[in-house]
Amino acid sequence: MTKYIFITGGVCSSLGKGIAASSLGCLLEHRGYGISIMKMDPYINIDPGTMSPYQHGEVYVTDDGAETDLDLGHYERFTSLSLSRLNSVTTGQVYREVIEKERKGDYLGRTVQVIPHITNEIKRRISLVAETVNPDVLIVEIGGTVGDIEGVPFLEAIRQFRLDVGVQDTLFVHLTLIPVVGASMEPKTKPTQHSVSKLREIGISPDVLLCRTGVELTPEMRSKISMFCNVEEKAVIAALDIKKTIYEVPLIHGQEGFDDIVLEKLGLEKRQKNLDDWKRMVDRLTTQDGSVRIAVAGKYTELNDAYKSIYEALVHGGAENGVNVDIVKLKVENVKEDRLREIFAGIHGILVPGGFGERGIEGKILTVKYARERSVPIFGICLGMQCMVIEFARNVLGYENANSTEFDVETDHPVISLMEEQSDVVNMGGTMRLGSQPAVLRKDTKLAGVYGLDVISERHRHRYEFTNRYREIMEERGLRISATSPDDTLVEAVELTDHPWAIGVQFHPEFRSKALAAHPLFRSFIEASEQYKRGESEAT
Ligand code: GLN
Repeated sequence: MTKYIFITGGVCSSLGKGIAASSLGCLLEHRGYGISIMKMDPYINIDPGTMSPYQHGEVYVTDDGAETDLDLGHYERFTSLSLSRLNSVTTGQVYREVIEKERKGDYLGRTVQVIPHITNEIKRRISLVAETVNPDVLIVEIGGTVGDIEGVPFLEAIRQFRLDVGVQDTLFVHLTLIPVVGASMEPKTKPTQHSVSKLREIGISPDVLLCRTGVELTPEMRSKISMFCNVEEKAVIAALDIKKTIYEVPLIHGQEGFDDIVLEKLGLEKRQKNLDDWKRMVDRLTTQDGSVRIAVAGKYTELNDAYKSIYEALVHGGAENGVNVDIVKLKVENVKEDRLREIFAGIHGILVPGGFGERGIEGKILTVKYARERSVPIFGICLGMQCMVIEFARNVLGYENANSTEFDVETDHPVISLMEEQSDVVNMGGTMRLGSQPAVLRKDTKLAGVYGLDVISERHRHRYEFTNRYREIMEERGLRISATSPDDTLVEAVELTDHPWAIGVQFHPEFRSKALAAHPLFRSFIEASEQYKRGESEAT
């Protein structure tokens, strides 16, 4: 029997509902409960796959190739979960399903309406996760803020869900903000009261209030919130702002008794909790000294969310090397030939992330060239790997206008080209090579050493590929193919033989890195960057 926890948000966006859901998942797992977490996104896009990073931040890819909200990344990083397309639901998917059924005549002549048809479809998708995964607890995060027009069908659906399933098996957690106002720095409860009353208008009365706050909640404030919001005092939980890392959140929530009250209200046994591994990881992250400076050279570095998984994976890699990672977000369009030394002064490792479209490409290629020539550790991911190949073709093989056909269809040397299976694709959404695919590692490569494996499985999201007819010449001149698809038709990774650490991968290892287990490539990249730093300081 699955129990359900619904997390809604009030007052304003960006309070960290995704982190709250992940943290609760982490705490419940540490008590030995099997969990799953799903996200309901009220927008009409089928998925965020076609959205610009300016709109949406990173597109997170699951093992089964769903392009999803970046909150799924948090869910996976904070827990042992590996999620699927079932865990991500959008208004677009819900309507598409209902409209397809309507066209088939499944509704037998009835008028198709938001209630019950849309709400039924939302409820069906919640139950589907419960039936498929069979978790002890299913956490369902409702995107957006209470009061948004788009969110209403989802709230209505979860209101009904409690009626269907029963009060004892469902829990409503509402995340709000207690702002601190004025010169007296007084914390204010009014916005929370308003947001709870908004929720009550649609028939949902929260059982637990998670109050984001910069100050401790006094007993008086707790009792005021409790009385005005009709929530038991012990269920008013202070979610204090973190000091250093988001990974502190489960510890803070745990101290405040968030998981205790959740278990109590759901009638679940308060099994013993052992957070030692998590504490050790947070201790390392908050006390380690020394740092390496890693430049992430991308197009969207002014947005915090565009390379979320990469930034987190770098942090995980740092934790396992006992060193802080100082991430320098480098806007790649500003990288110019005559400024390379100045830009990369004090940088110990360079990561070129994935991306689409021509803007910023030349800056990425210059960045790669700099790293290759100066032996700075360089990690190319997806488009980043493709740029390593283009740079090598241009500057080592002397193919001056070598390029990817994504940017120049006329190039004499299309070293990166459209995968054959992609040539007839018309629809842009969900049609890339997506999700986990196996790759075979070549013996005696740096990559095989990093993984310590012969076969790996990593997540993908791309249309273009290394062009096979250039394999031989590139290998002869020092760009090794270090991984391919099992049938050897697709190049999955490359590395420079004459360089301390230059690895490019066609896949996205960042989606597999967890707080308690850094991805080996990120661990190794940080280690190499530390070595580079040491070498530099010895040289001066
Ligand atoms: N634009 C490139 C491709 O489609 C790279 C994609 C990516 O970096 N995710 O192959």
